[in-house]
Amino acid sequence: MLGRDARGTATIGGSSVETILASAGCGTPAYLYDIDGIRVAAQALEQSFGSAPHLIAYAAKANSAGPILESLFSEGCGADVVSGSELGLVLEAGLSPDKIVFSGVAKRDDEIDRALGAGPSGICAIQAESVEEIVRVAARARTVGRVGRISIRINPGIQIDTHAHVATGHDEAKFGVARGDLGEAYAAVDAARELRLVGLSSHIGSTQTTTEPYIAAARVLFDIVKAREAARGGLDFVDAGGGFGIDYGQGCKVAPGDFVRALLAAQRAAGLSHRLIIEPGRSLVGPFGVLVAGVIQSKVSRATDRRWLMIDAGMNDLIRPALYQARHRIEPVHAIDGVPTARFRVVGPICESSDDFGIHELPTDPLPEHVVIRDTGAYGFTMASHYNGRCLPPEIFVSRGRIASLSQRGSEIAWIESRLRM
Ligand code: PLP
Repeated sequence: MLGRDARGTATIGGSSVETILASAGCGTPAYLYDIDGIRVAAQALEQSFGSAPHLIAYAAKANSAGPILESLFSEGCGADVVSGSELGLVLEAGLSPDKIVFSGVAKRDDEIDRALGAGPSGICAIQAESVEEIVRVAARARTVGRVGRISIRINPGIQIDTHAHVATGHDEAKFGVARGDLGEAYAAVDAARELRLVGLSSHIGSTQTTTEPYIAAARVLFDIVKAREAARGGLDFVDAGGGFGIDYGQGCKVAPGDFVRALLAAQRAAGLSHRLIIEPGRSLVGPFGVLVAGVIQSKVSRATDRRWLMIDAGMNDLIRPALYQARHRIEPVHAIDGVPTARFRVVGPICESSDDFGIHELPTDPLPEHVVIRDTGAYGFTMASHYNGRCLPPEIFVSRGRIASLSQRGSEIAWIESRLRM
């Protein structure tokens, strides 16, 4: 997590950001991660389950870097993947197939085959999001000669108070099977000898800063589970999804463990005791990453009384502000007391007006040389792109005050080659 040393210099995992960058030989922009913080967050979440049977299926899309996956898997986490490549990645990282669930609305046949074919008996569950997909998984299971373990992702019809682009549990969303279509979905699974319905799941969306909508969705899910168990039985787990919010600077009163404790209470109240699966991404990694950017220059319009701070990180490095109007705190690497400050609109170098990190109070004299963009451990690097011909930023992983591993900045030559040699 971001800290400050006695001289006011930003630290990650207890080490000065500048020292880390210098030892790594990396310029900016660069992502820095506190691996120990991620481990502690995973341990706290594990403990919140007490003795209840469970699986924390880390949503690998949040940050799929090897050192992060290895740390989380060694703390007992499994994974929620959303593509064949993510599935290949977590298997390659040594995760047992029975700790993997596969979500996503449009899985290709080859991706389904990969899930069915993993290990001796496939992955924990393919989370089917439509009746049509159930039929397709049955056909693939028949072809590859395996029994497919299915979980049906239910759309509970619950709207959450978040940006429209990260709300997934309402009627207009493309995600999950509508409650009214469940009869047809059950009929499709039950008619296929190659399929076994092992779970029911939901995921209503991200950045939830209260537990109420999560628990409202879980109650819908538990009612459906009870009805299915009474009619047919056979469910191994209930997957309540992820979406736990973090403090991006506007506060977040609930910790990930609070969602789990409330979920356990709702499960008890429903009289159920299935193994619970949750799919947190952001809350396990978001607070433990920063994007360090260099300040290129300021731009001041005396005519219109506007100030911009141009930094060398852009929306290609961190797209959340452009995509979701997300706000990340931006602070100087060196916090110096008593210097004059002003409100700057912090922007990147990309030729898009949306390449804009919002207005931040920052020093004017001297201007900071470097700034940290906070809480960028989730949906930062994994959403980065080459737009405007820019290279992917390096990632540096810090543990016990030292660099545990790092990736190099993407290469300009490789990018040019990739565009020219078609
Ligand atoms: N599960 C599913 C199916 C998702 O689509 C997502 C995120 O988009 C997550 C889990 C993780 O959400 P979060 O990172 O907000 O915890």
